[in-house]
Amino acid sequence: MKQHFIGNQWVAPESGETIPVIDPSDGQAFESLARGNASDIDLAVRTARAAHEGAWGRLSATERGRLLQKLAQKMFDHAEELAQLEGRDCGKPLRQARADAAAVARYFEFYAGAADKLHGETIPYQNGYTVLTLREPHGVTGHIVPWNYPLQIFGRSVGAALAAGNTCVVKPAEDACLSLLLVAELAAQAGFPEGALNVVTGYGHEAGDALVRHPGIDHISFTGSPAIGKVVTCAAAANHTPVTLELGGKSPQIVFADADFEAMLPVVVNAIVQNAGQTCSAGSRLLVERSAYEEVVARLSVAFSKLRVGPASMDLDCGPLIRQTQLQRVTGFLDEVRRDGLPIAGQGQVVAEAPRTGFYQAPTLVRDVPPGHRLAQEEVFGPVIAAMPFDDEAHALRLANGTAFGLVASIWSRDGARQMRLARKLRCGQVFINNYGAGGGIELPFGGVKASGHGREKGFEALYGFTVLKTISIKHD
Ligand code: NAD
Repeated sequence: MKQHFIGNQWVAPESGETIPVIDPSDGQAFESLARGNASDIDLAVRTARAAHEGAWGRLSATERGRLLQKLAQKMFDHAEELAQLEGRDCGKPLRQARADAAAVARYFEFYAGAADKLHGETIPYQNGYTVLTLREPHGVTGHIVPWNYPLQIFGRSVGAALAAGNTCVVKPAEDACLSLLLVAELAAQAGFPEGALNVVTGYGHEAGDALVRHPGIDHISFTGSPAIGKVVTCAAAANHTPVTLELGGKSPQIVFADADFEAMLPVVVNAIVQNAGQTCSAGSRLLVERSAYEEVVARLSVAFSKLRVGPASMDLDCGPLIRQTQLQRVTGFLDEVRRDGLPIAGQGQVVAEAPRTGFYQAPTLVRDVPPGHRLAQEEVFGPVIAAMPFDDEAHALRLANGTAFGLVASIWSRDGARQMRLARKLRCGQVFINNYGAGGGIELPFGGVKASGHGREKGFEALYGFTVLKTISIKHD
């Protein structure tokens, strides 16, 4: 059984209970995890508090940066082990798992370098005063991580929080914890003081809920579904705990007839197939200018028919979904597509070698999806893309902005003025022009508007969210 990692030690769950770890590629349990409860969370929060008031809190920003850099190096050194764990635990094709392992190391490298470059300002004020601002850590930050990119999401959230001087309690998703437990152990080996980084595993409604409600938590960073984001916000409000929310998306790829199709097509396919579509920023809607619609759909249909799905170890285009209920969710959307007579224009194939007990879904291109259809409005979180035509720029914008979400969008066009006109009117957190950065962009501020959440992670911007600004006004004349 994998135990919690608290205060640089493996700690058994207070309840003695465990959660099975299932391999999505074959549906079989291969490990078990500690089932954390409020008592385990309380221990982790008190340990993190002691570290914040003790050894970690006493470090200078430069010293913190050096420790983060040592951990980044350990992650690079153990990248293959991290990738193998992540691949098996999440069902990721190994190429993706390796990219995630490299990304988490890069996040720590980035935030290691940023730790001592984060500073306040002086503000011109009345004569006789000097006014300055300090960026101080919140204290103990809680991090609730989903199962789709455990390493990457840990990297962008915990890396920034530690660099800013916080100590952290992390609650990974019950479906994917193994890589983060290894990272916590690597942090101890890198010389992190006891309690700077703690990982408590368990279910969301138990360990997650206890973390959000704990009065010793000074900030919550939540990445997950919009529904649980609301639950977390309400629970945190009881203690006035600030929350950063990174939720889902229904991100549009907007393709104009003048686009470079050769460049666009493989990127559009990858943006929905990567991680079996279980990516918050998946490009799950394809809006195409009507004059190019038939050509784009026909070419994509050929590309989809070549996609192969299988176990993580086969390293194909697409792996399994995370669990049986996720597979049921995705097939539920496709049942509605058939019921409503929407044409399936292209579909990949699950290979014969894929175990029948795994959670496989062939990537699917659905065309002529009405903008109000559930497939065009709700997050599937699977490899299904909804294509629809638009008539002009204004129509494209209405469709692009016409969902509850606002995370990412891309514009494919050679017309520079149009690129900027649209980019400025899109209601979302990131716009890609003639590219699409699903899952990437360590240096680029990331986050949403509307149901996609609020606050920004990644890049230098994330550091501001993990600090509190204090203003000091000095009267000297
Ligand atoms: P989820 O909301 O069910 O779970 C996310 C995390 O919250 C897990 O660790 C879970 O244990 C925990 N949790 C569940 N109930 C809780 C509660 N009551 N209190 C506290 N914590 C609780 O989401 P999921 O199914 O694991 O992930 C899929 C969702 O995450 C999708 O909607 C996806 O778009 C979103 N996501 C967003 C981003 C982003 O950056 N915007 C990144 C990845 C995933």
